[in-house]
Amino acid sequence: MDITLVLGDLTDQHADAVVNAANSTLLGGGGVDGAIHRRGGPDILAACRDLRTTRYPRGLPPGQSVATPAGRLPARWVIHTVGPVYSREEDRSAVLASCHRTALHVADELGATSVAFPAISTGVYGWPLDSAARIAVDTVRTTPTQVTDLRFVLFSREAHAAFARALDS
Ligand code: ADP
Repeated sequence: MDITLVLGDLTDQHADAVVNAANSTLLGGGGVDGAIHRRGGPDILAACRDLRTTRYPRGLPPGQSVATPAGRLPARWVIHTVGPVYSREEDRSAVLASCHRTALHVADELGATSVAFPAISTGVYGWPLDSAARIAVDTVRTTPTQVTDLRFVLFSREAHAAFARALDS
């Protein structure tokens, strides 16, 4: 698997799938989630509403992932995953790792071989960048998958630098 870092906007990525740092409601939010729904158009939200009435009436639990079509995005699918909110009291690293593992599992089910991830949980959910980058890189490196082109799309120089350090170690 090739792991590459991109400084830019996830919604510009031409890939089989882009991963959304969603929240449990699946009904949209700020950050990368808001950008995906804005640019992808209403089909994504409609598919998310269907998922709420069928598979996830109580919402998608943190650490799990589910796919929808990508609407007008230059990708085929959005893989929605719910990152953990960072906590100083409780180690939620396993949940953040699970986001990456389950997203790759869903990508495999879809037959997606190019997948772009944002820096899950590092926005409003408050996870420190270096720690999140290490967990993300370690997890995708150790998860068996058919994905051959994996990109981390980082929205700031700080996030890009943190992921570069994680990839180097
Ligand atoms: P979370 O709730 O999981 O913290 P956020 O969307 O708030 O999710 O932030 C996750 C990361 O995505 C942050 O590092 C944020 O800077 C970044 N981000 C926000 N918008 C975009 C975008 N359009 N493309 C890529 N990354 C983005």
